[in-house]
Amino acid sequence: MIDLKDITVTFKNKASTVHAVQDVSLQVEAGDTYGIVGYSGAGKSTLVRVINYLQKPTSGTAIVNGQALGKLDKDQLWVARRKIGMIFQHFNLMNSRTIAGNIEYPLRYSKLTKAGRAKKVQELLALVGLSDKADAYPAQLSGGQKQRVGIARALANDPEILLCDEATSALDPKTTGEIIDLLKRLNQQLHITIVFITHEMSAVKSLCNHVAVMEDGKIVERGALLDIFSNP
Ligand code: ADP
Ligand code: ADP
Repeated sequence: MIDLKDITVTFKNKASTVHAVQDVSLQVEAGDTYGIVGYSGAGKSTLVRVINYLQKPTSGTAIVNGQALGKLDKDQLWVARRKIGMIFQHFNLMNSRTIAGNIEYPLRYSKLTKAGRAKKVQELLALVGLSDKADAYPAQLSGGQKQRVGIARALANDPEILLCDEATSALDPKTTGEIIDLLKRLNQQLHITIVFITHEMSAVKSLCNHVAVMEDGKIVERGALLDIFSNP
């Protein structure tokens, strides 16, 4: 599903050279819930941008959904990116659009008719338990509800992978638990592969079946969750 081989991402400017990601290899299988944990600056976001085709690696190969990132042209990248959903720490909703409008936004290039899009939005609202909020605006929602909207929007184009970048880091523990329960359910119900980037080990423990720990651009430890935490 995701196969990263010897990925290095180096940012160079006049003053400095930063090795954001160094020689990272990572395999995520279909249906996995894969956690990538590390402190701020460890390279997690950069690695996610490689998976999402937003960052070209300096070296190494990235195969996502069976496609080699380096071999796609601009149009193919657009299509490929639509098979990857993404959710964010601060939700990134458009405040001037209704909840239904936010969820519909990624469908603007889809082949669905207007009625088809409306039906899809209804289904997505039901999936995340927000059917009564279609006409509300983001400012009227709690943080947890906003993240549910973010999840519904991320699922609009039926992605095979959901990338979660600090998706629960702005939420209180109870709401974090609810979002994690929702992600677990989506993983089981839709068989969607989840990659969950965070600095919070507790969130990874309750959601993920695999974990990689990043430090200074490198993966320093990895495995099935039980193996990692049963180490003395
Ligand atoms: P994390 O997501 O784990 O906080 P990042 O991937 O954001 O880590 O950053 C890893 C390192 O790469 C940091 O030192 C950061 O400052 C640097 N970095 C990230 N993006 C850029 C960029 N576009 N230009 C220069 N340095 C960057
Ligand atoms: P942004 O998300 O930054 O607003 P857009 O999604 O509007 O960017 O797209 C930026 C450009 O890419 C636009 O010119 C748009 O026409 C083009 N584009 C995006 N998706 C497709 C697609 N599926 N087919 C053709 N062109 C596309």
